[in-house]
Amino acid sequence: MIPYSHHSLDQRDKDAVLAVLSSDRLTQGEQVDAFEQEFAKKVEAPYAVAFSSGTAALHAACFVAGVGPGKSVLTSALGFVASANAPKYLGADVRFVDIESATWNVSYRTIEDVYFDSDKFADVFVPVHFAGYPLDLGADVRENWHDKTIIEDACHALGATTPDGPVGNCAHSDFTCFSFHPSKAITTGEGGMVTCRTKANAKALKTFRNHGFALTDGWYREQRDTGFNYRLSDIHAALGRSQLKKLDGFITRRHEIAGRYLEELDGVVQLPPYSPHHAWHLFVIRHPARNAIYEALRDRSIQTQVHYVPLYRNPFHQGQPIEDFPNTEAYFREALSIPCYPGLTDGEQTKVIEAVRDVA
Ligand SMILES: *Cc1c(COP(=O)(O)O)cnc(C)c1O
Repeated sequence: MIPYSHHSLDQRDKDAVLAVLSSDRLTQGEQVDAFEQEFAKKVEAPYAVAFSSGTAALHAACFVAGVGPGKSVLTSALGFVASANAPKYLGADVRFVDIESATWNVSYRTIEDVYFDSDKFADVFVPVHFAGYPLDLGADVRENWHDKTIIEDACHALGATTPDGPVGNCAHSDFTCFSFHPSKAITTGEGGMVTCRTKANAKALKTFRNHGFALTDGWYREQRDTGFNYRLSDIHAALGRSQLKKLDGFITRRHEIAGRYLEELDGVVQLPPYSPHHAWHLFVIRHPARNAIYEALRDRSIQTQVHYVPLYRNPFHQGQPIEDFPNTEAYFREALSIPCYPGLTDGEQTKVIEAVRDVA
């Protein structure tokens, strides 16, 4: 089976993990600090705080941003459930925003529809850089939302850039969240990261990650606030450090794969929005016969996936009428993610292209 996504590990990654296993600290050692510093440097963020998953990262960012009962949060209708779950864990009212048909991302225009038509004031916005296509918050959302908190869900977008620099530098946001699940740009097995601009926020994120304990010297510690055990272990962090060194190469390879799809599937299917600064986490094609393509590719041992069932269609997240989401619905009827990951070979990609051409 050719999967739609797969991690890329080599001997250096394995050696990095083995070195931690032979050291004195498996967790709360030096690897996490080093990973945070290297990650912050890579995405040009003032601070980075590591978490046990991307979901934990989103939960922490929402907590530190003051999301809670009585607060309302807007996020894209097209995304993973975690972007909606994190604010819901904290008791906030979450509502979804339709995507733009040109970018498959939210924009100020689509936010405005929800924001001004609703009786409720939106406090926090959680945009998703869908599929790794970089959302330009500077040109768009921030101008019109300068008094709001913005938490970027960049779980698809490590390695993408905007006109203001790498996604993750928080040029126009308060927090940016990443995931290191094996399907993502780099992996730690499970893991996540939040980047932010202020020392106070970085400190609050670390407190939340570690049971709400105040950071003190010596033996005395006291819990001052809500907290979880959302720590990343040193085993995971060592893998992350090793993977981070290869990020640029991974992104280059993703661009090669996407470039070939864009050329060879042109006119066969609807192609995804293009940006030279894309992270290409997913390569999503659209076609009216999506289900037939899914089945035909499965019969040829090629795994594809639909990203995603729109959030408002999940029973847990229902509440807004489907008619409010014409662009997301049109996308959902036709979308299919085809294999795109650094380890996909040219021969495997040929097989995928031929299969899509035959069926489409
Ligand atoms: C992967 C992902 C998450 C959650 O990350 P985990 O590490 O799996 O918890 C959140 N949002 C988006 C858009 C994702 O793709």
